[in-house]
Amino acid sequence: MKGMDVKLASVISEVLSRNAGEGEFHQAVHEVLGSLTRVIAKNPNYADDALIERICEPERQIIFRVPWIDDKGQVQINRGFRVQFNSALGPYKGGLRFHPSVNLGIIKFLGFEQTFKNALTGMPIGGGKGGSDFNPRGRSNNEIMRFCQSFMTELHRHLGEHTDVPAGDIGVGGREIGYMFGQYKRLTNRYEAGVLTGKGLVYGGSRARTEATGYGATYFVERMLASRGSAIEGRRTVVSGSGNVAIYTIEKITQCGGIVVACSDSNGYVVDESGIDLDLVKEIKEVRRARIAEYVTLKGKGAYYVEQGQGSIWDVPCEIAMPSATQNEVTGKDAQTLVANGVKVVGEGANMPSTPEAVRVFQEAGVLFAPGKAANAGGVATSALEMQQNASRDSWTFEQTEARLAKIMHGIHDLCAETAEEYGAPGDYVLGANIAGFVRVAEAMRALGVI
Ligand code: NDP
Repeated sequence: MKGMDVKLASVISEVLSRNAGEGEFHQAVHEVLGSLTRVIAKNPNYADDALIERICEPERQIIFRVPWIDDKGQVQINRGFRVQFNSALGPYKGGLRFHPSVNLGIIKFLGFEQTFKNALTGMPIGGGKGGSDFNPRGRSNNEIMRFCQSFMTELHRHLGEHTDVPAGDIGVGGREIGYMFGQYKRLTNRYEAGVLTGKGLVYGGSRARTEATGYGATYFVERMLASRGSAIEGRRTVVSGSGNVAIYTIEKITQCGGIVVACSDSNGYVVDESGIDLDLVKEIKEVRRARIAEYVTLKGKGAYYVEQGQGSIWDVPCEIAMPSATQNEVTGKDAQTLVANGVKVVGEGANMPSTPEAVRVFQEAGVLFAPGKAANAGGVATSALEMQQNASRDSWTFEQTEARLAKIMHGIHDLCAETAEEYGAPGDYVLGANIAGFVRVAEAMRALGVI
C-alpha cells in the first residue's frame, strides 16, 4: 500500500477484516481503491460521510437454499446467492453464475466490479451479481429446468424491472434465462419482460445481446489500437475459453482480420494454426455441449490439443491476448511468457482474469492493457438496451443495436483514456476505468444522502 492515501489504506484493512476469507473480493477492492489516491487528493469530499466504506459494503446480500430433484428422483441441495451491491445509478444489474466454485466472496467481487463497470457505460443501471454452486456439467435438460425453476422460486421476490434485473454469466445462457423467465412469469402472473436480460428473441430479447460482450471487447481493443495508428488486421490472437464471451470474441476478431489460433475450456486448449474454425466450436459448445478436445477429432489434420496441467494456453505466442474464461486465469508467469513472446495487447473479456502480478507485468512491459470492467462492459450495456426495448415495447434491428454497442464501447474507451490522462497516468486504462467509474457512482451517492 506504498504511496496510498491513508484513509484508503485504512478502508482496505477494514474491508479485509470484515470480509474474512473472501480472497477475490479483497483483490477487487484492492484494485479499485488502489487507483483512487489521486482522486481523493483532488477532491477530499469523496472520503466524507464514509462514502468509500459504503461503496465497499453491499446494500443487501441474499443467500438461500435451492432444493431440486434429479433424474434419479434424488433430492439435491445447492446454495443460491444474490448480492445487490449498489443502486445509486439505477436498479441492480448483473449476471447469474452457475458453477461449483461459486461462493459469497466470488459473487461479492463480481458485484463490486459490476457497479463500476455499469457506471462506465453511462446507462442508468446499478450493480449486482448472483448465482449458485450448482454444476450444470453433465446435467440433463430436465434437471437444468428443475434447478432454474427452484432457484427462481426463491429469487423472484427480490427482483423486478425497477429493482433488480439479472442476466447470464458462466453456466447461464439463453436456455437457463428462458426457464427462469418462465418461472418468474408463472409465480408473479406478470409478463415483466424487463426483469431479466439475455432473453430469447421470440420473447423479448434484444438482437446482438448474445454477441455483445465478445464483440464489445473487440471494439475496445480496436479503438485502443486505432488511437495508436494500428489495427487488429493480420494479428495473431489467442482467446481463452469457448463459452459465450470467447465465441463472439473469436467471431469479431476474425471479422476484423485477426487470426485466432487457440481457444480452450477448463479441460485444456486447442491450437489451430490455420485459424480456429468457429462453426466447429459453436457446434461443439452450443449444440453438442461437449468438450473442446473434440475439436481435434472433428477437424482432422492441422489442429492439436493440450490437456490442462500439461501447459497453459498463454504459452501459445500471440500479439493479442483475450482472456475470456474466468478470474485469475492469467498468472504472473503466464504474463511473462506472453510478454517474452511479443504480446502487444491484452483485452480482458472475462472479469478479473489477470492476477495483480500479471497486470503489473503487462503494464511494466508497455503492453496495451484493457481491464475487464471497461473492455467487457458491452454485455451489460446491451442488456440495458434490451431493457429500453422492453420498456418501449420495441425491437431494434441487429445493425441498429450493434451500432449502439460500438458507439458505447468507443465512448468507454475514450472516457478511460481521457481520465487516465487527466490524472497524470496516460495509457493506464486500469486507473482510468477505476477513477471514471468511481466518480460517477460517488457523485450519485453524494446526491442521494446517507442511505
Ligand atoms: P460461459 O459459461 O459461456 O463460458 C465460460 C468458459 O470459460 C467455458 O469455456 C468454460 O469451460 C471456461 N471456464 C470457466 N471456468 C473455468 C475455470 N475455472 N478454468 C478454466 N476455464 C474455465 O461463460 P461466459 O462466456 O458468459 O463468461 C466468461 C467470463 O466473462 C466470466 O468471467 C464472466 O464473468 C465474464 N463476462 C460475461 C459476460 C456475458 O455477457 N456472458 C459479460 C461480462 C463478463 P468449461 O465449459 O470447461 O467450464
